[in-house]
Amino acid sequence: NAPLHELDPAVAAAVDAELNRQQSTLEMIASENFAPVAVMEAQGSVLTNKYAEGYPGRRYYGGCEHVDVVERIAIDRLKELFGAEYANVQPHSGASANQAALFALAQPGDTVLGLDLAHGGHLTHGMRLNFSGKQFNVVPYHVDDDGLVDMAEVEQLAKEHRPKVIIAGWSAYPRQLDFAEFRRIADEVGAYLWVDMAHFAGLVAAGLHPNPVEFADVVTSTTHKTLGGPRGGIILARKDFAKKLNSSVFPGFQGGPLEHVIAAKAVSFKVVGSEEFKERQRRTVEGARILAERLTAPDAREAGVNVLSGGTDVHLILVDLRNSELDGQQAEDRLHEVGITVNRNAVPNDPRPPMVTSGLRIGTPALATRGFMAEDFAEVADVIAEALKPSYDVEALKARVKALADKHPLYPGLTP
Ligand code: PLP
Repeated sequence: NAPLHELDPAVAAAVDAELNRQQSTLEMIASENFAPVAVMEAQGSVLTNKYAEGYPGRRYYGGCEHVDVVERIAIDRLKELFGAEYANVQPHSGASANQAALFALAQPGDTVLGLDLAHGGHLTHGMRLNFSGKQFNVVPYHVDDDGLVDMAEVEQLAKEHRPKVIIAGWSAYPRQLDFAEFRRIADEVGAYLWVDMAHFAGLVAAGLHPNPVEFADVVTSTTHKTLGGPRGGIILARKDFAKKLNSSVFPGFQGGPLEHVIAAKAVSFKVVGSEEFKERQRRTVEGARILAERLTAPDAREAGVNVLSGGTDVHLILVDLRNSELDGQQAEDRLHEVGITVNRNAVPNDPRPPMVTSGLRIGTPALATRGFMAEDFAEVADVIAEALKPSYDVEALKARVKALADKHPLYPGLTP
């Protein structure tokens, strides 16, 4: 029972280095966040040792009395947060939740409508190399010239192809979707509506975004993005889908649930219900608005920088570099050099190849969790704008990033 540093110094050193990286740089990958220490404590608990195939009260293993308590707490808290009739907390990841949801609603070969990956959709919404694209007949819809989901196209494609499922959700889109319109179209063609709220679930929980549970048949999410919990997936639905969804997760796609992760999910749901979490989501959205403002200002425009759809309603912006000398890869590298982590991202109809791209996706959830206020987001936005200009002072920008990181220490109690 030696501690990690003694038992495995090589792994311990990499973990320490990662802690140091997270503490000393500014994390602006839109899908990332920092889980509370108590969430990591639950995930690092003895629950990792327990097999619990089945569901609370109906397990295929003995000794499940305590993990049953944990899983019931997680389910009850989750239902309460989103006003859902049914919740499943067992999916190991967002992709697993999506796989279970899609196979519960449709059969291989059925037609599904999803937002094109290149226009902001997710791999599991029909990308050709993903299970969704390989096993279903995928009809992609797109964003229009203003960067907004083209609902007229959704309606036209739905009427033409009569899909079994319409998927509403995104990984890279800066606006809110019109769930009522998706519902209307789904009803008109007799399709199920599945919303993947992985990115914006935290905003929904804080009341800053419409709640898809009120419109959709099934809603999936990850728990580690704006929700700020452990890495994992969840499914919410109306209760008439309960049986199908439960059996699609287990035994359909998974064996034993990760009860230590479910415990961590339960703890994170308690945090999500707090006033502090709502306040953090407000700063998250405000931070993204400030970024959009600063990166559409005249001097940013002069450097060929712009923001898709002209702004944001959520926790991220999509920087458009089609008019910049810098491509997405170069811009990502420059920001990395000054201590800001983002990811390059294709813009719709991107003239550059997918490994290079002409865009950046920049998100504010992790910095909001770190305590960033409006003035800090303005400062980081200005650092980004400077770094994307033709010439820039690396050392000066590094110092500004360090000052922000020092001002808002991450995991102050944890040291490598
Ligand atoms: N759904 C959406 C909309 C996502 O953006 C993501 C992750 O990027 C996923 C699902 C998949 O989640 P995971 O990476 O946990 O499988």
